[in-house]
Amino acid sequence: MITIDGKILSQEIKNEISKTVTSQIEAGKNAPHLAVVIAGDDSASLTYVESIKKNTKEVGILCSVYQFPASVTEKELLDAVDFINQDDEIDGCIVQLPLPKQIDKQKIIQKMNPKKDVDCFHPENMGKLVLGEKAFLPATPHAVMELLERYEIETAQKNCVVVGRSNIVGKPLALLLVQNSPKADATVTICHSKTKNLKEVCTQADILLVAIGNPEFITAEYVKKDAVVIDIGIHRIEDKTAEKGYRICGDVKFQEVSKKCKSITPVPGGVGSVTIACLLKNTLLSYSRNI
Ligand code: NDP
Repeated sequence: MITIDGKILSQEIKNEISKTVTSQIEAGKNAPHLAVVIAGDDSASLTYVESIKKNTKEVGILCSVYQFPASVTEKELLDAVDFINQDDEIDGCIVQLPLPKQIDKQKIIQKMNPKKDVDCFHPENMGKLVLGEKAFLPATPHAVMELLERYEIETAQKNCVVVGRSNIVGKPLALLLVQNSPKADATVTICHSKTKNLKEVCTQADILLVAIGNPEFITAEYVKKDAVVIDIGIHRIEDKTAEKGYRICGDVKFQEVSKKCKSITPVPGGVGSVTIACLLKNTLLSYSRNI
């Protein structure tokens, strides 16, 4: 069994980015610049933004965080996005979700300049993804594709089952896998909470990709022998035996599934480790178009 190591891959990608940024700065250019808009005090979001700050610094990308309280108004967020859109020194922008209840997230996303939308949330970028046109790839699905490619896991002519149909993970991931390209060309089935006979569908998968937000839901019974398993879920669950009183796990029961499959992404240290590296890659892509 091969453990697909996201930490190593993430470092590889960051090294590549760092090299490019250094050479741009040595050539007298500005550093790339990412803006992050966050509202409220969702702990997972705050942790994610801290991680973005740390990672941007590591590779030499500037990061500006526009932080608002949970009581923020829609107008204040729209103004912030407008300000970022107008600032030629800012190459990429992400709006961290979830936003507070009083905010219509679609309004905020649609206000973003699609050319700076490095998370690929804007309908124009999602549309390009559907059409297979050159566009930013959404960070988490992009991370999965990078892991498959760099571990030389063939997708062409394989049965891929994606469990989860969210707009930020499941759907775009399925779209990437089904693209008419040597890096994709898979036959893709998308499952969700209303799928009948989920277990049987999953056991048809050569590559099983899980993003359901349900800790350790996928057991060995859902997995074909020697399948590749990509676990996108991430959870902190109580564990009195652990030093910190909790442990991190995915949507897949790693211990039993890893005994049956050919390769698997661990949690932590799998897809999640590569997601931010892909966000940085998109920021660099946006920056390169700007010079
Ligand atoms: P959502 O809650 O938006 O979507 C979950 C999807 O899973 C839905 O389509 C839902 O179906 C489906 N689902 C839920 N339960 C079942 C079930 N028992 N059987 C089949 N399908 C089910 O979650 P996200 O896509 O945003 O995130 C999924 C997981 O990935 C979470 O654990 C999240 O933390 C993690 N994540 C990890 C990232 C990373 O970088 N590693 C980034 C983003 C998310 P239905 O549509 O019918 O409700």
